[in-house]
Amino acid sequence: MTTTGYFTHRDCRKHEMGAGHPECPERLDAIDDRLLVSGVLDVLDRREADPAPIADIELAHGRMYIASIRGLTDGLREEINAGGPTHAQIDPDTSINVHTWDAALRSAGAAIAATDAVMAGDLANAFCAIRPPGHHACKDKAMGFCFFNNVAIAARYALERHGLKRVAIVDFDVHHGNGTENIVAGDQRILMVSFFQHPFYPEGGSLSNASNLVNMPVPAYTKGEQVRALIEQHWLPRLEAYKPEMVFISAGFDAHREDDMGQMGLTEADFAWITKRIKEVAQRYAQGRIVSCLEGGYDLSALARSVEAHIRVLADI
Ligand SMILES: [Zn+2]
Repeated sequence: MTTTGYFTHRDCRKHEMGAGHPECPERLDAIDDRLLVSGVLDVLDRREADPAPIADIELAHGRMYIASIRGLTDGLREEINAGGPTHAQIDPDTSINVHTWDAALRSAGAAIAATDAVMAGDLANAFCAIRPPGHHACKDKAMGFCFFNNVAIAARYALERHGLKRVAIVDFDVHHGNGTENIVAGDQRILMVSFFQHPFYPEGGSLSNASNLVNMPVPAYTKGEQVRALIEQHWLPRLEAYKPEMVFISAGFDAHREDDMGQMGLTEADFAWITKRIKEVAQRYAQGRIVSCLEGGYDLSALARSVEAHIRVLADI
């Protein structure tokens, strides 16, 4: 009997970007607590993630960029020893502490280990409770709380290391997955479908019109029922036609109506519905293979409830 995997690592808690930052370690605690109290954790196969090999991170990122993040960490450590600040700022929203490098390797490593286990048939599907998140991380740029693009790395890994021909990335975070788009646009082995509040962060960049992307920008205050209709109309026909052999999810829960980071009106029931539709596609074409990776979600209560709803569908409980 195969089950749903739950991949995480304690190093993912050690990365933090300063007091009061919304992308905080407590997000993982809230998820863990909720899954524990609800009994959901009892039916999951909980596993610790190994750090991702650099060669696998290079499937989605430039060698120099990866080295620059490591260099930043080494530099920060020296500065701290000399009495300097505890964080190195990358952009106004994004900074590293001395644990960020390890946490980022564990996050990508979780997505990779989950991919291996699901491909081996050892697990039916998997959820990665990881941070830092990944979908704003571009090939050569960290931004928006993201350093390495966990989902893009895992998708490329499934293609390159497991010999798959077609994989899908589904992104339901309230923000546009600009980093994933930057990495996968034009790569016809990957179909990316997403919706996101627009106009919104990240600003300035125009949306790519590459044929392997199904971008669904929606205005602020869009509710769940409207999103469901758009998914029926735009995502599902493309996914059905593409017949992915594996599905990766950029699972951000900041489109929840209680999450102040965005202004959309989704609920746990909507996230469950979306997960169910994705699972149906995976069951038809991909032997049910799904690897879902945590992206955003900043209202701790809404995040924890939404992740529980998402995992209940994945695990069929
Ligand atoms: Zn987000």
